[in-house]
Amino acid sequence: MPLKTPGEYKQSLRDQRTIYFRGERVGDVTTHPVLGIAVEHAAIDYAMAEDPRHRGLAVVDEGGREFSRYYHLPRTSEHLLARSELIAASTREGGTLVVLIKEIGTDALFALHLVSEAMAARGVPAYRDRVRAYHERCRDSDLAVAVAQTDVKGDRSLGPSAQPDPDHYVRIVDRRADGIVVRGAKVHTSVVTNTHELIVLPTRAMRAEDAAYAVAFAVPVATPGLTLVASPFGAFPKDPFEYPISARHKMMETLTVFNDVFVPWERVFLAGETEFAGPLALTFVKYHRFTAVSYKLPLLELLVGAGRAVAEMNGIEAAGHVREKLTRLASYHTTVAALIRQAALQCTVEPPGLAVPNTLLTNIAKYQFASQYHQAVQMVQDLAGGLLVTAPAVEDLRSELTGPLVAKYLGAKAGVPTEDRLRLLNLISDLTASDFGGYQEVLAVHAEGSLEAEKLQTYREYDFSEPVAYARRLAGIG
Ligand SMILES: Cc1cc2nc3c(=O)[nH]c(=O)nc-3n(C[C@H](O)[C@H](O)[C@H](O)COP(=O)(O)OP(=O)(O)OC[C@H]3O[C@@H](n4cnc5c(N)ncnc54)[C@H](O)[C@@H]3O)c2cc1C
Repeated sequence: MPLKTPGEYKQSLRDQRTIYFRGERVGDVTTHPVLGIAVEHAAIDYAMAEDPRHRGLAVVDEGGREFSRYYHLPRTSEHLLARSELIAASTREGGTLVVLIKEIGTDALFALHLVSEAMAARGVPAYRDRVRAYHERCRDSDLAVAVAQTDVKGDRSLGPSAQPDPDHYVRIVDRRADGIVVRGAKVHTSVVTNTHELIVLPTRAMRAEDAAYAVAFAVPVATPGLTLVASPFGAFPKDPFEYPISARHKMMETLTVFNDVFVPWERVFLAGETEFAGPLALTFVKYHRFTAVSYKLPLLELLVGAGRAVAEMNGIEAAGHVREKLTRLASYHTTVAALIRQAALQCTVEPPGLAVPNTLLTNIAKYQFASQYHQAVQMVQDLAGGLLVTAPAVEDLRSELTGPLVAKYLGAKAGVPTEDRLRLLNLISDLTASDFGGYQEVLAVHAEGSLEAEKLQTYREYDFSEPVAYARRLAGIG
């Protein structure tokens, strides 16, 4: 089957999916005033495959058969680097917002390949063929795939089976000859309002008593019993002059409820094998944090670029404190970019021959990004000045009465048109001080795992033995 066009992608979302937005059932996601923006944003993926500027990166030709690079199984560092480059390129097209409709789904597929292979090696062969068949189906039909890993989790101090409400982690409530029935809810599920498929993974390691919760599977989004309650965050009409990014680019997140959803066996990838729940959760995260840092690079580029451009427009670029801030921003961007590249170069190849980005470097990259993001935002806001939140409206700029006042009094360095200055300030405001700016900040802290999760993984992965031996040797301890 050929690659989908953006038009075919949009048409294919007109199905029986059950989505609620502000208490009302959504009929057609593609024409909905809010969800439709997310559809247009996601269509960037399909547009890039057609665009001669991006086609070489976005599409892989394997023996005359073309498919999206996202579905290409990475076997070498070069494959990981090309994937990272594509993720960054599409995020750049998306105005710093990741597109995600194939990135996250293939992160999950790669993890399923690795874990089902390990299961086969331990005498549980059934899942491996199902994963392969499902991967080929998604690849050959050029499908968009979301991932629901994060359970609602209830009381964080208790495990799945110890929760007062047994449905606070997704679980198997019935096993039938033809499949399983699942109940529960996941949360923060990105892009699922505009994907074809949803992959569900466990969010943590499970104990023997959690067997019903050790479950992984895939369903079409328009599956009976699957209900999506979409977040209205940042959903109000926006003028593209005042909100140059978020007026056009949006991701939707949902509370994703499984109300006794039937899943046929061919779509079940884990059903009670508790010892594989933790490895599956962690293997997904190994790929997904690599994706995360890849899609953060355009955001960091923009912070550097906008910081420098606004300093020049305001005539402060030669000041010592400004150079210091720009140096820190440039170092931040360069450090994260270098770490993610190195994570690809230092990958390991694991059965069945998939390249896994270096976990230590990936987690350090993600932590470096996330722990410094708010400081970077502060520096750019400092360079820009208070007009980020006090500038007049686009209507005032265009008005015959107020336009000349705005043009005269809000000009800065000679030769810089006031409108250009306001455009740049609005870009920085949208990126750092709007609801979208807040979204980016929370995304930085929590998405792909909270800060503590990255620190924990870094601690686990770092090999302390050599440094300790060195310290002991220099101390003269035997
Ligand atoms: C914009 C956005 C998009 C996302 N997209 C997706 C997606 O597409 N798919 C998906 O599956 N997930 C997605 N996520 C979820 C993301 O991975 C989670 O937000 C993240 O793992 C944190 O989980 P939480 O939000 O439930 O917060 P919590 O887990 O409640 O974390 C809040 C705080 O509690 C701490 N904490 C939690 N549990 C414990 C404990 N047992 N002991 C001590 N401290 C604890 C955390 O470290 C943190 O400090 C998304 C999140 C965001 C913000």
